[in-house]
Amino acid sequence: MRFYSTSDPKHSVSFKEAVFTSLPPNKGLYFPVEIPRLDCHTLDHLSNRSLVSIGLEMMKPFVEEDVPEEVLDRIIHETLDFELPIKQVSEQIHVLELYHGPTWAFKDVGARFLARCMGYFTETTGKEIDILVATSGDTGGAVAAGFFKVPGTRVTILYPKGKVSEVQEKQLTTWGENISAYSVEGTFDDCQALVKRAFLDEDLNKKLNLSSANSINVARFLPQSIYYAQVARLLSHPKTVISVPSGNYGNLTAGLFGWKMGLPIHRFIAASNLNKVVPDYLETASYDPRDSVSTYSNAMDVGAPSNFERMLELFEGNHAKMSQMISGYHLNDQQTLDAMKQCLDSNHYLTDPHGVIAYQALKDRLKPDEMGVFLETAHPVKFLPVVDHVLDEPANFQDKTKELMSRKQSVIELSGDYEGFRNCLLD
Ligand SMILES: *Cc1c(COP(=O)(O)O)cnc(C)c1O
Repeated sequence: MRFYSTSDPKHSVSFKEAVFTSLPPNKGLYFPVEIPRLDCHTLDHLSNRSLVSIGLEMMKPFVEEDVPEEVLDRIIHETLDFELPIKQVSEQIHVLELYHGPTWAFKDVGARFLARCMGYFTETTGKEIDILVATSGDTGGAVAAGFFKVPGTRVTILYPKGKVSEVQEKQLTTWGENISAYSVEGTFDDCQALVKRAFLDEDLNKKLNLSSANSINVARFLPQSIYYAQVARLLSHPKTVISVPSGNYGNLTAGLFGWKMGLPIHRFIAASNLNKVVPDYLETASYDPRDSVSTYSNAMDVGAPSNFERMLELFEGNHAKMSQMISGYHLNDQQTLDAMKQCLDSNHYLTDPHGVIAYQALKDRLKPDEMGVFLETAHPVKFLPVVDHVLDEPANFQDKTKELMSRKQSVIELSGDYEGFRNCLLD
């Protein structure tokens, strides 16, 4: 399958090239020329099929020119090598827990698939690549875990010093081997600015093969559509509503791809915090990206979501069609805490500050004949300072975190100036 640039449909590349370059040369994002529908027989028998075999069928058309079927099969097995359980939370609401992977967030799925595809390509071409990631917390850990010891790859992670949680910091800084972590004096935006500058540095790009592991990369967002099939496999309801905590909208876009491939999904909710650019668009038809504001659900603090362009592409820029399929919802920080507390008190289910917004959206917006599923995008332990606000006594997750906390950190401090960062990369 070819992938074209949303800003220049005449420009198209192979899957492999889209993976290595991440972004088309003249802005826009890569988008597949087609979203093939799953076979009717598969769709009629989802509940009798393993998630891996459905995943293989979903991904195959996108990658088959560049990845042989037996390699894809291995990649999908390794990508989905953890539980993706669905639990009932209240009468009308279920949760799909996406946090049983190595870094306890849904990003493990996309990061693992991307890392293994890149690993396969570096192996077959002998090329070495340098992956740069700026992270506000969750992305860096998932990318590090995905790429750890993948031959031919070197990963450099930049995170804002003092602005990630303790668990997140451990998951960023305790790898070694082909993974390096830098703590940057400044904000997430400063980290991102350093990475962007490196990509534009011609001299540096002559010396290193730089690549990105951001959710703009097709190999990161596409495999996320597989777990939407888990909902259809394990629950059958004619009107299933899936509520997705959203920031850069890679996760929701993947859900829309699943729906286009034929998965039985009635509609989606885009659950957001005060960075509610997309909910505002859905309501008013005017799109107004802005600077992000910081909230308790900081993995969703995105003021100009990259994947919105892919959502527009899916609905041919038609606001009426998009808003028929997706409705927006948002909570502020106080409402987020209240919802966490309410969910815990009434259902004995502890949520994290991202998933809980999607939970509350279902609670407020489900119609009587619908059934809701929210995605729990990270384990609450990753956001302990916030989670502790809603618990009567501080949470005790020692069993879960003990081994991680005992690992030795290795981190390089950066002042935020570009030359210093550049020298480290070339070292
Ligand atoms: C990254 C992240 C999100 C947002 O996902 P997008 O695909 O960027 O919309 C939501 N929740 C958590 C916990 C995350 O880490």
